Amino acid sequence: MDRFNVVISRFNFKKAVAIYLLILILAGVFSAGFLAYMFRDKLTFLYEYHRISEKVEDNKNGLENMKPELADLADASPDMVDILILNGQNQILYSAKHSDLSQKGTVDLTPDTDRNPLFFTDRQNPEVHFRLMKGDKLTLSASMLGIENKVKQEYEDRYFYESGFAAQKVYLLSYIADRTDGQKVYIISDVQPVAGGEFYIKAVAAIAMLFFMLYWVLLALWVYARALGAKLNASMWGIVTLFTNLAGLFVFLLYRQGGRTCYKCGSLQNKSNVYCTFCGTKLGSVCNKCNTAAGEKDRYCKNCGSVLDEEKDQDE
Ligand SMILES: [Zn+2]
Ligand SMILES: [Zn+2]
Repeated sequence: MDRFNVVISRFNFKKAVAIYLLILILAGVFSAGFLAYMFRDKLTFLYEYHRISEKVEDNKNGLENMKPELADLADASPDMVDILILNGQNQILYSAKHSDLSQKGTVDLTPDTDRNPLFFTDRQNPEVHFRLMKGDKLTLSASMLGIENKVKQEYEDRYFYESGFAAQKVYLLSYIADRTDGQKVYIISDVQPVAGGEFYIKAVAAIAMLFFMLYWVLLALWVYARALGAKLNASMWGIVTLFTNLAGLFVFLLYRQGGRTCYKCGSLQNKSNVYCTFCGTKLGSVCNKCNTAAGEKDRYCKNCGSVLDEEKDQDE
C-alpha cells in the first residue's frame, strides 16, 4: 500500500487528463469517421429519405417535380432496387431505375398474411416480398444500417414452410405518401448487410466502454490522491468514489470545502483550528482579547466583536 501511495501521490493527474482527452478526441473523431465511411451509403440514404419525405409533406404541386431528387437518391446507394412514383390507382408514373418491378405498369401490394401485415406481395410478382419499413423506424433499424440480416431471417422464420421459398426475394420497402392526391413514392432497396458492419459497431462500442472505464478509475484515483494529500482516509474516499463516481466526488469536494488546507503539509484541518494538527504550523489568527479562533476573512471577532489584527495569514 505504501508503494502505491508513493506512486499515486507523484502521479501527474493534469498531464494524465490532458493525454486522456487528447486520445479520447482522436479516437472519437477516428471512430466516427470510420463508421461514417463504412456506412456512407446507408447514412446518405437515411438522410435523403428524411429530407425527401419532409419535402413531400410540404409539396403542394404533386410529386412530379421530385423526380430529379428521387433519381439522385436511387443512384446514391448500390442497395437501391428502384424508386417508383405511383398514382392513387397504383399505376406507376415514374421509375428511377426501370427495374423489373416497374415493367408491369402497376404495383398492387397486399399483405402476405392477415396476421402479420409486415410482408407484402404484388400478385404480378409473387416471388418478390416487401418488408415494410416506415418513417422513424428507419433511422434506428439495424437492418437498414446493414449490420444484420434480420429481415431475411424474419422472412425465413415466418414462411420457410412455403414451397420454393429459397427462390423468393425480400426487399425493404419505405413509402412516402402525398395525402392531397393519393400519389405515393415507393423506395425499394435490397437487404444488403455491410460486410463486417456489426463487428465495427461492436468494436467502436468496446472502445467507448474502455474510455468510460478509464475515466471512472481515473476519477477514483484522483479523489484517492487528494484525500491522501489531505491526510484523510484515502482508501475510504477512493472506494466511495469507485462505487458512486460523481456523487462520491461531490461529497469529497463538499467535505474538503468545509475545512481548510494547511499550506505547509497539505492536511485538511478544521476551519476553527489555529494550528495544524499534523505539523503545528499556525493557520489562522486568534482574537487578542478572548483567544477565539477567527476565520480567514473575519475582520471582527465573532465572540467579542473586537477588531482583529490586520496581519493576514498566508493562504494555502
Ligand atoms: Zn500542517
Ligand atoms: Zn474576541
